[in-house]
Amino acid sequence: MAKLFVVPTPIGNLEDMTFRAIRILKEVDFILAEDTRTSGHLLKHFEIQNKLQAYHKFNEHKQVEGLIDRIRNSQTVALISDAGTPGISDPGYLLIKNCIDNDIEVECLPGATALIPAIVNSGLPNDRFIFEGFLPQKKGRQKRIDALKEEPKTLVLYESPHRLLKTLSQLLEFFNENRRVCVARELSKLHEENFRGTFTEAIKHFSSKNIKGEIVLVVEGYNG
Ligand code: SAM
Repeated sequence: MAKLFVVPTPIGNLEDMTFRAIRILKEVDFILAEDTRTSGHLLKHFEIQNKLQAYHKFNEHKQVEGLIDRIRNSQTVALISDAGTPGISDPGYLLIKNCIDNDIEVECLPGATALIPAIVNSGLPNDRFIFEGFLPQKKGRQKRIDALKEEPKTLVLYESPHRLLKTLSQLLEFFNENRRVCVARELSKLHEENFRGTFTEAIKHFSSKNIKGEIVLVVEGYNG
């Protein structure tokens, strides 16, 4: 049966791997992985023996046609990324779209992703929110921030530790300084931190530190 399984993997804590993710990774004909070395460690930990093939942003365009042919030929394949859910700020979209366009079934398993625990931990309204992934690093960055400044829904962004202070300062410049923000760092890991406060408080808190780890920024929506 031709099918693509999109399989989330832990974002830090290996206990967040699901029973079904392990079973599917054992059963499929082969696994596509963003980084075969990183995923090799994960598979070893869960005693999953299966074929791994590299599928990342640098080779996805070249690979997609051949992969569609293989899957169409009654193969089941699982797509995994380095951490979290493939397709969410990670490779996946192109293959998923091509499978759907070619009538190949696609099933994403529920599982780990960083944005959901971050928004829930933030204590900010989570009935409606927008996820912007990473802001552009250079071109179009200010324009994007400006376009978001009057967005009433809670905003979720992915950020790297070395750009955190720059982003907080730019958000302070464009958004109202009293807006609440939550910096969710190292979710599910030993040094998890959820800092809640204003932009100014967050800048003060993180300026005195050597900022490490992975970060999700959650920002209160515009309320006039
Ligand atoms: N596919 C992943 C997902 O489903 O969340 C996201 C992959 S993206 C390349 C990596 C970014 O996700 C990090 O820079 C960070 O913003 C966020 N992230 C991943 N793991 C995290 C964690 N344990 N704590 C906080 N943020 C995390």
